[in-house]
Amino acid sequence: MDTIVAIATPIGRSGIGVIRLSGPDSLGVARVLTSDSAFAPEPRTAYLRQIYDRRASDAIDQTLITYFQGPHSFTGEDVIEISCHGSPILLRVVIDECLRIGARMADAGEFTLRSLANGRMDLTEAEAIRDLIDAQTTAAVRQAARQMRGEFSHQLQPIKGDLLDVIVVLESALEFVEDDLPEIQLANTKLRLETIKDTVAKIAATFRAGNLIREGIRVAIVGRPNVGKSSLFNALLGSERAIVTDIAGTTRDQIHEKFTIRNIPISLIDTAGLRETTDTVEMIGVERSRRTMVDADLVIAMVDVSEERSEEDLEILNHLEAAQQIVVLNKIDKLSPESVRGFREELKSMVSSGTHAFVELSAKTGAGLDALRDSIVEPFSPTEVNSDGFLVSDARHYDLLVRSRDEIDSSISLLEARASEEIVLVGLHNALRFLGEITGETTTEDMLTRIFSTFCIGK
Ligand code: GDP
Repeated sequence: MDTIVAIATPIGRSGIGVIRLSGPDSLGVARVLTSDSAFAPEPRTAYLRQIYDRRASDAIDQTLITYFQGPHSFTGEDVIEISCHGSPILLRVVIDECLRIGARMADAGEFTLRSLANGRMDLTEAEAIRDLIDAQTTAAVRQAARQMRGEFSHQLQPIKGDLLDVIVVLESALEFVEDDLPEIQLANTKLRLETIKDTVAKIAATFRAGNLIREGIRVAIVGRPNVGKSSLFNALLGSERAIVTDIAGTTRDQIHEKFTIRNIPISLIDTAGLRETTDTVEMIGVERSRRTMVDADLVIAMVDVSEERSEEDLEILNHLEAAQQIVVLNKIDKLSPESVRGFREELKSMVSSGTHAFVELSAKTGAGLDALRDSIVEPFSPTEVNSDGFLVSDARHYDLLVRSRDEIDSSISLLEARASEEIVLVGLHNALRFLGEITGETTTEDMLTRIFSTFCIGK
């Protein structure tokens, strides 16, 4: 097994920067770095040590070194953590030195993968570490922390146990009973399967809420130039702390601005386009709005109540393409409430679809902003909020739960149709396998590679 190394803290100037090594030669690398071949640290004790760049034979930093002896470490292997001063250049020099000594650069998620391989955690717990690091809101942090503690796996364990019990009953019927299952046993088996199916379905149903906390809502704002889109954008961003995150792979013209409403992450999409319109006179026609709307869960279409309604407004309103849409009547501060009402009623009668929500707003004074916030999150809020229940937030988990439920369901139908135990068992084995894939008991190498490629380096 190679010894791997990576910087575990973000790249940038900071008080400290941590370098982590894992593998059989971790301590050996530390001995060379410290120029002390007799360095034999007590596990889990921090040592203040100089480290050296051999080529310059100079001390390059004073560091704190901690040794975690396998298997009592994050990865289950020998781990060395070196807390250096947080200079990106220094950290690079130390990494280069580790590579020269014989360590290799860790792949994305490789520390966690090793932890999984060594049985230190299961797959849901490993994924929770990634989710915790990626969390955008305090709700998402709490959710990931629960999963990291093994809560999801604990929930699945008894379900898998129950399913296995049923499988055993059917398998032994297959082996020992000459005739079909007696009526009473058949009814009992069916009942047990129904209960298991309901439990799986209940857990799967939490995905709507869980996914909302994790992924949030993608919102697009469309409308003619000068209706007040940028003003609304700034009002929304300014009110709650904007969370600046580096999203790998996003280009300049696809910037997603992030903020939260009621602890739900909101991404405003195509915001570069929005800013552009503040200083260039650009026609935001139907075509452009369409492009903006492609990725959105919700579209906010904005109309200026102080202007004559234009054909272009109507065309945009009649071509909204999103599951959810809100029409914002902006600049109400410029008109009397009666005129605004008149404008709204007239517009309503001219818009073809009746599914639009109408919100009156002044992006300038902030009037109506709270109502707008409510309208943004309201259609996405789960109907049954179980505040202390665990929420499934990963699409992979959700998919496997649904597939497992469907397999159990079809086995129940087969059982009712008096199909042979053999046939009923196929679906139940599949269901059990799907549940096992969630925690990684029955996960293929391919899948692990795919999952861990979403981790950051050094984790
Ligand atoms: P965009 O082109 O749609 O992004 O529109 P802007 O946000 O740049 O706004 C165009 C103009 O309308 C600016 O001068 C804003 O100050 C003004 N404006 C925006 N919202 C309001 C509002 O609610 N009331 C008033 N009176 N003016 C507004």
